[in-house]
Amino acid sequence: MPRAGGVHNQISKAVLRTLETPFESLGTSGGFFRCSETSECDRRVWYARQGDKPSNSFSAVTRLKMNRGDVLHDYIRGKLIPKLTPYQVSYWNPELQLASEYKSGRSKIFLRGHCDGLLIQRGSGRPLAILEIKTQGVWPFKKCVKIFDKIIHKEPLLPDEVFHYSQGFLLQGNRYIRLWNDAYPKLKVDRLCLLLFNVNGDPDETTGLPMRDYWFKYDDKLFKKDIERLARVERSIGCEEAPEKFYEKIGWQCEGCQWFNLCWSSSERKSGASRSSKKPKSVSSTRAKANERTVSRRSSSSKRSTDPVLEDSQARRKGPRRLKADAKDAKPKARRKKMGNHKATG
Ligand code: SF4
Repeated sequence: MPRAGGVHNQISKAVLRTLETPFESLGTSGGFFRCSETSECDRRVWYARQGDKPSNSFSAVTRLKMNRGDVLHDYIRGKLIPKLTPYQVSYWNPELQLASEYKSGRSKIFLRGHCDGLLIQRGSGRPLAILEIKTQGVWPFKKCVKIFDKIIHKEPLLPDEVFHYSQGFLLQGNRYIRLWNDAYPKLKVDRLCLLLFNVNGDPDETTGLPMRDYWFKYDDKLFKKDIERLARVERSIGCEEAPEKFYEKIGWQCEGCQWFNLCWSSSERKSGASRSSKKPKSVSSTRAKANERTVSRRSSSSKRSTDPVLEDSQARRKGPRRLKADAKDAKPKARRKKMGNHKATG
């Protein structure tokens, strides 16, 4: 077949141009917290809550991967589940925006998000769970499977697993359940169905498919702790000084952060000595005990309270809001580094 001339890669170039066009900040200038912003780092949550313009926007390749993930989400919700399982997914096309205000002491927290849908029983239409889908590459998928398998089998997590970002999936799902139940009390659910999907397609040992689904119960204690933490960030909005960095050294967590350059000075970024792939400095038995208490209360009530007033007694950060199997064997916890001077931008 003869060549068509100088038009090769025209589509690819156009896609790249589009994806490289600066787009609006993923921050939340509207004065709310996103359900999906579950970073351990208060400072990062603070940047997002203030709507600070990211200094390190996602690359074109990352955005392309995110778009691919969106397509897979639709395939799973629109075809895979309804055609091949006894379930259906409702309220995802379009996704509903969930939003509600909560209180912690004198702080008001406005929480907002879009869940992936409501999983219902086909036939009866009975609401079963909030669905949260995570599409991942092969290694993140395997790591998450390893961690969630430990959680469901009540095995202790290693320190790096306690702080792994996958714990944020549970926090995110827990937020959705609460928001959902507050908005739709007649369709109340008390479970999260977390579906992991490996985009590389390698079959998982347990399921024989590149996917796993984990089911968790709503945890009211976790939600209250979560709101207390967000209230702490809320109280620092508009302050000149940013909250402390969660990480004392630059590692992959910070290098993937959209506010990396804003957070670390250029000299800090240049300092090879400061680089570390490790998690936060951590580990204290106090935190481990706090986690243990959290886990023990997991079954939870899903009592509806549209305006919960929560105690504001724990002003400082309380460790990982983890759902894990047996915290007494895990070794979380943490001191954190004093941050340098940092000027707020918004
Ligand atoms: S760069 Fe690291 S320490 Fe700074 S806000 Fe982001 S995650 Fe937190």
